[in-house]
Amino acid sequence: MRPEILFPLFAPATSLSGVGPRFAKLFESLVAGPAVIDLCWHLPSAIIDRRYGPPLAEVIPGRIATLTVEVGEHRAPPTRRQPYRVLCHDATAEIELVFFHAHRDYLMKTLPPGETRVISGKVEIFNDRLQMTHPDHIAGPDEADSLRAVEPVYPLTAGLSLKVVSKAVHAAVERAPELPEWLDPALKQREGWPDWNAALTQVHAPRDEADLSPLALMRRRLAYDELLANQLAIALVRDRQLRQKGRRLKGSGHLQEKVLASLPFALTGSQRQAVAEITDDMAAEHRMLRLLQGDVGSGKTVVALLAMLAAVEAGSQAALMAPTEILARQHFKTIAPLAEAAGVTLALLTGRDKGKARQAILADLAEGKTDLVVGTHALFQDDVAFRDLAMAVIDEQHRFGVYQRLTLTSKGQAVDVLVMTATPIPRTLMLTAYGDMDGSRLTERPPGRQPIETVTLSLDRLPEVVTAVERARNKGAQIYWICPLVEESENSDLAAAEDRYRALEQLFGDKVGLVHGRMKGPEKDAVMARFSEGEIAILVATTVVEVGVDVPKATIMVIEHAERFGLAQLHQLRGRVGRGAEKSSCLLLWQGPLGETAKARLQILRETDDGFRIAEEDLRLRGAGELLGVRQSGLPAFRLADLAVHGDLLATARDDARLILEKDPELAAERGQALRILLYLFERDAAVKFLRSG
Ligand code: ADP
Ligand code: MG
Repeated sequence: MRPEILFPLFAPATSLSGVGPRFAKLFESLVAGPAVIDLCWHLPSAIIDRRYGPPLAEVIPGRIATLTVEVGEHRAPPTRRQPYRVLCHDATAEIELVFFHAHRDYLMKTLPPGETRVISGKVEIFNDRLQMTHPDHIAGPDEADSLRAVEPVYPLTAGLSLKVVSKAVHAAVERAPELPEWLDPALKQREGWPDWNAALTQVHAPRDEADLSPLALMRRRLAYDELLANQLAIALVRDRQLRQKGRRLKGSGHLQEKVLASLPFALTGSQRQAVAEITDDMAAEHRMLRLLQGDVGSGKTVVALLAMLAAVEAGSQAALMAPTEILARQHFKTIAPLAEAAGVTLALLTGRDKGKARQAILADLAEGKTDLVVGTHALFQDDVAFRDLAMAVIDEQHRFGVYQRLTLTSKGQAVDVLVMTATPIPRTLMLTAYGDMDGSRLTERPPGRQPIETVTLSLDRLPEVVTAVERARNKGAQIYWICPLVEESENSDLAAAEDRYRALEQLFGDKVGLVHGRMKGPEKDAVMARFSEGEIAILVATTVVEVGVDVPKATIMVIEHAERFGLAQLHQLRGRVGRGAEKSSCLLLWQGPLGETAKARLQILRETDDGFRIAEEDLRLRGAGELLGVRQSGLPAFRLADLAVHGDLLATARDDARLILEKDPELAAERGQALRILLYLFERDAAVKFLRSG
């Protein structure tokens, strides 16, 4: 349960004065979630310095100034199309306030003639006269000091003005309680960091540009808090996993040999090495938790199968879990003939198995008649039991979280876990997603693969692309056609894909297929199967094909609006082709104007197909802003930490978390209690469940 001290922060934002349901809704599109804490995490991105306030005669035009003036004559225009003017002055000079579409009553009330007012805004000079168009602030004379300050500027969204957002954020920050300190005192002192509450308050009251820097003390402290919560949560999960004693899973190698003999190819050097690393790890006494990283098409499935066979050789069962139905079926199809060659029993279990058929699969698993099972998250269901599950492979493709892993592994005794990921992850991101997990990497491609030719073209040249596709199609090629990703809107994704499908259907008739995320499983599979068998030549798809579909005969990948995709995602998509012996190409169609980042992305894709390099570049380019790729990948997205600048803090947080759990594994001591609050503050509630209550 969430500690009571945090209740005010997790109250809905609508509990703040000035925040109504409309605001909450708009605000939700700006940041995630409409709780008070979300407003607190909405940090200023700029400042307006309103401290400048000389006598009128000395004002430098072009600057923002906060001026104390006496209001004079109102000059209402004859028609509403002309500006409304209010003359003001101080002892030294005059200034004219200019309003468009003004309401006289309102202005008479805010600027009563003869009274003193403080106005703040940009001063300009027009026809030799000082003027200010639509002052940002108009206030009474006693507010001069509070206005003459540095004002934070927040990122905004349509329908929310700076004033409204500032007010709400400040109301939220005022709700923030003093929290007990969870930082290591030595670290805090060395870094010179303020207390949590002070840091939050200061972050929202920047005094100068330097205070906006992610390197400012209070920003670093908040970033560190977030990273510590992340690392502590991962360490907790991992700690629980490692603390259970492992078992020695040592195979005889006879099943592996049979499979190797039946493969139509030889393993690459890095596949052989990975298999050796994994089986050594399984044979060791501790519990395995290992990551197998390998670019798309690098041949992870065979490695996983060989590792699972080691468990079967040792007399146990193994499971492979994929993130989607399509992938589970594909793995099953790849593994089935190999399992048969080895004389191993194999089952498939997905959400689509129901009733009697499902009962039969479950019975075989429970009795141990099935050696290997491939499936989706259906493997997590409560009623799935194994006779002796000893090894689980989780094909993560970044879609599972660290907690689900444990659910599957609780179905056996000290289950050894191998996590596979298709997108190479930079070291820093690996830490945030997996902590210090041991890793094996497939760095070689299977031999005989042709490099993929990558071309970038303006979308204006679509007709040429269609002609080229037609030509290739006449020569028997198969083509993927990926449709634009429209942010946050599955519906418009779909509309775009359907439009393209219809347009291509006009040209190619029933040789065109469409697959998208809204389709039901069997429908999707049917289309994929027809593509895989060559009945469909052109497969129009939303990004559902990204996850690892293997059709070696497909040689052309067209991606529309490539500028809207993340780098890692484009690389993944491109990896769908170039899997067979034929030469493949990838056409990235972009629509201008292209921003610098989009340009750089397309350039990198033209230059390299080394997934590890692309991953590093991706992180670098993504920097603070564009989190789309991260969000879709399921990697943790940080609110306050920016790995491009706070990378050093991540390593410190990792060490800190490790030390904390060594000294106080149940987070029971005083600092431990504070750390529990930290975990809840960053909504790592699931991790707290691994602690004994207290
Ligand atoms: P991924 O790492 O993307 O999961 P897969 O395991 O699906 O890659 O392998 C991609 C393709 O490469 C499959 O058709 C597989 O049979 C083939 N393959 C795997 N290893 C080799 C190898 N050593 N030599 C040739 N082909 C291989
Ligand atoms: Mg695969």
